[in-house]
Amino acid sequence: MNKSDLIKQWTKLKIITDKNVLNAFKKVKREDFVVKEYLKEAYEDVPLPILQLQTISQPTTVVIMLQALEVKKGMNVLEIGAGSGYNAALLSVLVGKSGKVYTTEIIPELADFAQDNLKDFRNVEVHQCNGSHGLPAYGPFDRIICTAAAKKIPKPLIDQLKEGGIIVIPVGPKYGQKMVKAKKVKGKLKKQDLGTFMFVPLVGEFEG
Ligand code: SAH
Repeated sequence: MNKSDLIKQWTKLKIITDKNVLNAFKKVKREDFVVKEYLKEAYEDVPLPILQLQTISQPTTVVIMLQALEVKKGMNVLEIGAGSGYNAALLSVLVGKSGKVYTTEIIPELADFAQDNLKDFRNVEVHQCNGSHGLPAYGPFDRIICTAAAKKIPKPLIDQLKEGGIIVIPVGPKYGQKMVKAKKVKGKLKKQDLGTFMFVPLVGEFEG
């Protein structure tokens, strides 16, 4: 499959409804974020191995998460799980020049991989750290997206989310998690279930 076939499929199945997400997908080259062994598969709708047994998420999953996140220009966004840096690149387009994206990655080799892949995306910073603690020095955040599975939403992330802010995160045990979209209203999270997905675990004390 190529990029335009994938877009056609999404349009037909009404998966893509947000024109900003579609525009970001059109702009960012997924082939720049996959390892060279999988270049030909860059637009197959599957997760692909990157380094250290981690994966770049399936394109449809990325679209579902980004649409749920409702990112606007100028926002301050935190990602947990940089991986290849692909999702951070899409976020970079969504927040625009006036916005900022912080992405965290726990595995040093992958943090370097993401950093390298993201060098042309000037409004993105990669931090090698345990992202479940958030990045308090750079918060609070309008939006938080976690691309690894947690047993529950880490408290530091709730604390670093602005009032009215949205977090999207897979929550649940190792095999099969519920994608949760939650909005912070009067300090409390109002949660919505977006269905079942499978992610690599969020390493550390919130591991699913
Ligand atoms: N968003 C990525 C896909 C990420 S896969 C992309 O677009 O390519 C999930 C990533 O989360 C893996 O790279 C894994 O190493 C990382 N991860 C797992 N636990 C973490 C933690 N506690 N803090 C930061 N990153 C973590």
